Amino acid sequence: MRNDYIIAAKLSDQAFIEKFRLLIGKEDDRGCRPWTGVSGGSANRPNAKYGRFQITFEGRTTRLRAHRVSWCIANNAIPPEGFFVCHKCDNTICVSPDHLFIGDQIANCHDMVAKGRHARGERQHRAILSSSDVACIKAKLEIGTLHSVLASEYGVNRRTIGAIKSGRNWRHIHPDTFSMISLIKSS
Ligand SMILES: [Zn+2]
Repeated sequence: MRNDYIIAAKLSDQAFIEKFRLLIGKEDDRGCRPWTGVSGGSANRPNAKYGRFQITFEGRTTRLRAHRVSWCIANNAIPPEGFFVCHKCDNTICVSPDHLFIGDQIANCHDMVAKGRHARGERQHRAILSSSDVACIKAKLEIGTLHSVLASEYGVNRRTIGAIKSGRNWRHIHPDTFSMISLIKSS
């Protein structure tokens, strides 16, 4: 992913790290360090506020995910391919390294459910899957979860799961779904 490439290139750049640190706010009573720079939502949580570290790299303006940069600086490393930087505090604007951990895509699906981002009642009566559900189903299919298990977990029939796997249905119904999956993978 290009942004990880940029972060990797900048980890040894003291000016980059200093500029980043200047935008970290004071610790609040939960121990969170809010990002004071620009912010924006993610594909998965469009209304959430995630910090964005705006830099110019090779002549192009880029907005890096501030919490991801924070984790990389604190650990002097880039998360392995397919791993997210997640918030223990669920405060998306927070960039405190103490509140960040890396989790893989599946862990993030569980994390979303555990934190109640999916309404449980809605799940039982749901006729339509959300795009993040589809992204999670795709991730679980990749690690070999049975169609029947996913069908019962998401309250849909097995053919729906098969259609997601082949890209038959969802490509047309939600054209952004598959691009979102790749965004989730690289977020
Ligand atoms: Zn926090």
